[in-house]
Amino acid sequence: GTEPGSGVRARPRLTVLSGPSGVGKSSVLAELRLMRPEIYFSVSVTTRTPRPGEVDGEHYHFVDPATFRRMADAGELLEHAEYAGNCYGTPRRPVEQALDGGMPALLEIELQGARQVRAAMPQAQLVMLAPPSWEDLVGRLTGRGTEDPAVVARRLEVAREELAAEKEFDEVVVNSDVRTAAQELLTLVVGPRSKTQNQ
Ligand code: 5GP
Repeated sequence: GTEPGSGVRARPRLTVLSGPSGVGKSSVLAELRLMRPEIYFSVSVTTRTPRPGEVDGEHYHFVDPATFRRMADAGELLEHAEYAGNCYGTPRRPVEQALDGGMPALLEIELQGARQVRAAMPQAQLVMLAPPSWEDLVGRLTGRGTEDPAVVARRLEVAREELAAEKEFDEVVVNSDVRTAAQELLTLVVGPRSKTQNQ
């Protein structure tokens, strides 16, 4: 909101959401979108092939490796990382424009990218979405059925590492229930900071 008399307000926060593949990030974000459309949801660029139902420019900007490399080299990406053989990155300008325009921004990225954002923007809030249990995560990853078993095995390996990094995060949201998790995330994205702010 506005602060009477000052004409100045704090720059809204940047929130980074990470969590292992299969934890339900997409479902939680879809629910969050329904609740609070005035959050800027970053659309990443990726060299990955679209999954069935994924729309270019909506779920991702799907680009070829040469285009990705050009964007990274030109400094157009806030962070970028390789994950399971594909490149992923966050376009910098839309995020900066959202924050400058007074809108909180949310990135859904993997661990290496989250660490890059932390280093570049220490005021960013890092939130991990965690499964209720490891067994729950294995079940969800195996049951998706859109990837071949080698890809699933690789993602489980990475998931183990991602969960082990929990201590690097400011907050952990457990995804036992999509709606509850989305509500918790909403509070974190738009609500007051829970820790001392050093800007
Ligand atoms: P998926 O291929 O399943 O959509 O995503 C694989 C992983 O890449 C997920 O952990 C997702 O959070 C992450 N990811 C998506 N976009 C970005 C991005 O722009 N940067 C980074 N570092 N990771 C991303």
